[in-house]
Amino acid sequence: MNEIDAKNMLVAIRIRPLNQKEILNNDRSIVRVEDNLLIMLDMNDFEDRKNILHRSREKRYIFDKIFQDVSNEIVFMNTVSDLIQPALSGINACVFAYGPTGSGKTYTMIGTTEDPGIAVLTIREMFEKVQSDSDKIYEIKISYVEIYNEAIRDLLIPNSGYLDLRDDPTRGVVIAGVSEFTAESTEQVMSLITAGNKRRTTEATNANQTSSRSHAVFQAMISQRDRVTNTVLDVFQGKLSLIDLAGSERGNVTENRGMRLFEGSKINRSLLALANCINALGDKSKKGFFVPYRDSKLTRMLKDSLGGNCKTVMISNISPASSQFEESANTLKYASRAKNIKYKVQANKKLVALHITEYKNIISDLRSEIESL
Ligand code: ADP
Ligand code: MG
Repeated sequence: MNEIDAKNMLVAIRIRPLNQKEILNNDRSIVRVEDNLLIMLDMNDFEDRKNILHRSREKRYIFDKIFQDVSNEIVFMNTVSDLIQPALSGINACVFAYGPTGSGKTYTMIGTTEDPGIAVLTIREMFEKVQSDSDKIYEIKISYVEIYNEAIRDLLIPNSGYLDLRDDPTRGVVIAGVSEFTAESTEQVMSLITAGNKRRTTEATNANQTSSRSHAVFQAMISQRDRVTNTVLDVFQGKLSLIDLAGSERGNVTENRGMRLFEGSKINRSLLALANCINALGDKSKKGFFVPYRDSKLTRMLKDSLGGNCKTVMISNISPASSQFEESANTLKYASRAKNIKYKVQANKKLVALHITEYKNIISDLRSEIESL
C-alpha cells in the first residue's frame, strides 16, 4: 500500500547547467548526483565561500528522481508521462515547477523549440492518447490563469479583469467566469499558452522582477463519452493542472513549519500557503491535522488537487552554483518536506449512475405496490 500511496506524490529535483553569469563569476558546481542521491557541498561550513577546497562537508538528500544534464523529454518520461492516462480516466493530476527565480521552472515547463518542455510534451501525449482511443470520445477544455498579488487574471483573453473563486457543489472550487477553450490540437493549445504568457503581468516589462512573483496555472478539464452510444460516461472530469510557480526566493520562511505567521507580509502569500499546506500534509499523522487551504488563492484553487484526490508531481529546480547555495539548500529542504506527503486517489465518479439505479428500484417498488392493489 505504501508503494501505491507514495507514487501519488512524486518529488523530483532538476539541476540546471551553470549559466554564463555564474561561469564568468567563477562559480563552481557544488552539486553531484548518484542515482537518487543528491550530494551538495555544505557552504555553511566555509567562511570564505570561494575557498571551498579548504574544508569540505557534504549534505545528502534522497528524492524520487533527480535530473542533471538531461533533456525535458527525459524529465517528462520519468515524471509526468505517468499522469496522463490517469487524468484521461478521471483522476486529477497536478504538476508544480518550484524553485527560485532563474532556476529553470519556465524552461522545464515550456522549454525551447529544440527542447520542448513538460507542458508541450504533456499536451502532445494527451492528444495522442485521445486520438487513438477507439472506445471513447473526449472533450478537453483548457483554461490558463495567473495569480499575481492574490489576484486571479485570465491569460486566455486580453485585458481580463480579476476573477473570483467559488465553491461549486459538483465541481469543487471553480474560477467564476474564467474562459474555457475546447482544445483540438497541441499546436492550438501551445499558441494559446504562448499568447497567455505574453499577457503575464510580468513578462512584458522587467521579467525578473515581476514574473518571479506570479504563478501561471494551466488546467485541462477532461470529460468522456462512449463512442458508440454517445452517452456521457459516469467517470467525472479529470483535471490536469500544470503550474509554473512564483520564485521561491526568501525561502527561509519554510523554516516556520506549519505556522501561519505571514499575514499581511509582502512575501508571496500563495507560495507561503502552499508551503504551509505541504508542511501540514506531511505531518498528517500528527494530532490536530489541519491544512490551511483557505489561506491563499493558489491553495484554495488546488484544494482538490493538492493532497486531495490527485496524483502530484513536484519538480523542484535548482542551480548547481556555489553562489546559489542558500536558495538551493532551501529548495531541497522544501522538497524534502513534500516527500512526506502520502495519500490515495480514485477516479472522480459522477453519481448519476447510482441515482438512476435508485430511481429504477423505487419505480419497480411502486409498480409492484400498484400491481398488488
Ligand atoms: P525560472 O523560470 O525558474 O525563473 P528560467 O526557466 O527562466 O528560470 O531559466 C533561467 C535561465 O536558465 C534561462 O535562460 C533558461 O533558458 C536557462 N535554463 C534553465 N534551465 C535550463 C536547462 N535545463 N538547460 C539549459 N538552460 C536552462
Ligand atoms: Mg520563469
